[in-house]
Amino acid sequence: MKRLLIVILLLGFSITGMGWGQTGHRVVGKIASKHLTKKARKALSTVMGHESLAVASTWMDEVKSDSTYDYMEDWHWVTIPDGQTYAQAEKNPNGDIIATLERIINELESNRESMSVGQQREYIRILVHLVGDIHQPLHVGTGLDRGGNDVKISWFWSTPTNLHSVWDTRIIQHKEFSYTELAEVVDHTKKSTVEEWQSATIRQWAEESMSYRPMVYEIPQDNVLAYNYVYATWDTVQLRLQQAGIRLAGILNRIYG
Ligand SMILES: [Zn+2]
Repeated sequence: MKRLLIVILLLGFSITGMGWGQTGHRVVGKIASKHLTKKARKALSTVMGHESLAVASTWMDEVKSDSTYDYMEDWHWVTIPDGQTYAQAEKNPNGDIIATLERIINELESNRESMSVGQQREYIRILVHLVGDIHQPLHVGTGLDRGGNDVKISWFWSTPTNLHSVWDTRIIQHKEFSYTELAEVVDHTKKSTVEEWQSATIRQWAEESMSYRPMVYEIPQDNVLAYNYVYATWDTVQLRLQQAGIRLAGILNRIYG
């Protein structure tokens, strides 16, 4: 029994930096697809075929099982310590979420005419995923605890997990919505708000994520997170999914619209 427990613990800690779980990522893709211009929708269907943005959103997590894509591993997150900006922070030589988003968007904007459909499809899959991840506050880490992966949590007094995973999946799972239901729940944005959100830069999205740190790390001494934590964070989780979806649509409309 003890050995089994150790194996489970090791497995738990080896899975790091997954980003929003599948439901969260699909919500972002679904919301974005509802805010595309007609022209962008048409151009994207040429690139993506029958693969919806919701389906494309989880590709970057799926290819973690394929060593061909190991070079993308560090693209899901970035470290910006408290009190620093991205420009000041030490850069990961393997890349990070901000550098990757800026590069991919820039290449699609300036160079997509000369890119193959396959290359564009891969870029869109990366884009849908990373715009989601950067809105998950713990994907902009402090550098102290691997984006909350080292913060052990007892979820509802029974499930051992960590703070990162609570934000990726546990809070959303607790609500028991399907991704299409949750997209409906979350997506009710005024036009003026849409414009305001879409005008923010990628670095500002990261700064917003950092601004949630005090709330994210508001953890009781026994490290049990349950109803109170879900209650305290649910509005923020919804807001971040909504902003990610709206901003993804803004980028795709700019590129393809
Ligand atoms: Zn991710």
